[in-house]
Amino acid sequence: MTNKYMYFIANWKMFGDLRTLNSLDKVIKFSKTNKKNKFKLIYCPPNILIRPLSKRLKNTNIEVGAQNCHESENFGPNTGYVNSKMLKNVGAKYIILGHSENRQDGESDKLINLKIKSAIKAGLKIIFCVGETLKEKKNKKTKKVLAKQIQKGLKSIKNKSDIIIAYEPVWSIGTGMIAKSEDLIKCVAFIKSKFSKKSPKILYGGSVNAKNIDKLKNVNNINGFLIGGASQNSKKFIDIIKKSISN
Ligand code: PEP
Repeated sequence: MTNKYMYFIANWKMFGDLRTLNSLDKVIKFSKTNKKNKFKLIYCPPNILIRPLSKRLKNTNIEVGAQNCHESENFGPNTGYVNSKMLKNVGAKYIILGHSENRQDGESDKLINLKIKSAIKAGLKIIFCVGETLKEKKNKKTKKVLAKQIQKGLKSIKNKSDIIIAYEPVWSIGTGMIAKSEDLIKCVAFIKSKFSKKSPKILYGGSVNAKNIDKLKNVNNINGFLIGGASQNSKKFIDIIKKSISN
């Protein structure tokens, strides 16, 4: 991994409660060793934990993000939802959008595009997930799928280089399977080729853990990792970061 400044983004999905936050003391302590600014840590917990987590992380260099939002910029009759302004208001600085678990629940590229636009307006930084399913991979449709997700998801967005792209093959999420290094290098290069000016940061996500990180960290065109399951355990998460930044 050639990049000096690596991202480690924890996607807690629908895990965690107030007690879980105590386990972060280890990570806070560890983050203080980051004197040379080798990595950036971002936690994306469930919405109910954004406020308490932000408070707990005050005076640390760890930031907080959300996992999804409603596309509307305004308050409205949308039972059970929150919009990006509300998330910003309680402490989120980032937001994951286009996650495959939400795409599988029916989120279209068009809807994701609306969410991205409203989140940018609210001042959130975007972590935009793209990735192919196993069927698409087998049918050699990966590039086509990635191109479509990027083109439609980021339609009419000006400063694309500020967006963090997470390449997450759907077949890799939560399965223990990871992309082969050579495929990963090609996919990341392909994603980069879709941006004419400065390329956005590109992360990899999908079953990253302390065992496979040695392989993944040698893929030198990625800027870090989006980590689901393994990020829920502070020790495992720290192990991944330590291994990633060691030579
Ligand atoms: C994710 O949900 O974004 C993810 C990468 O999950 P996991 O690490 O558990 O595969």
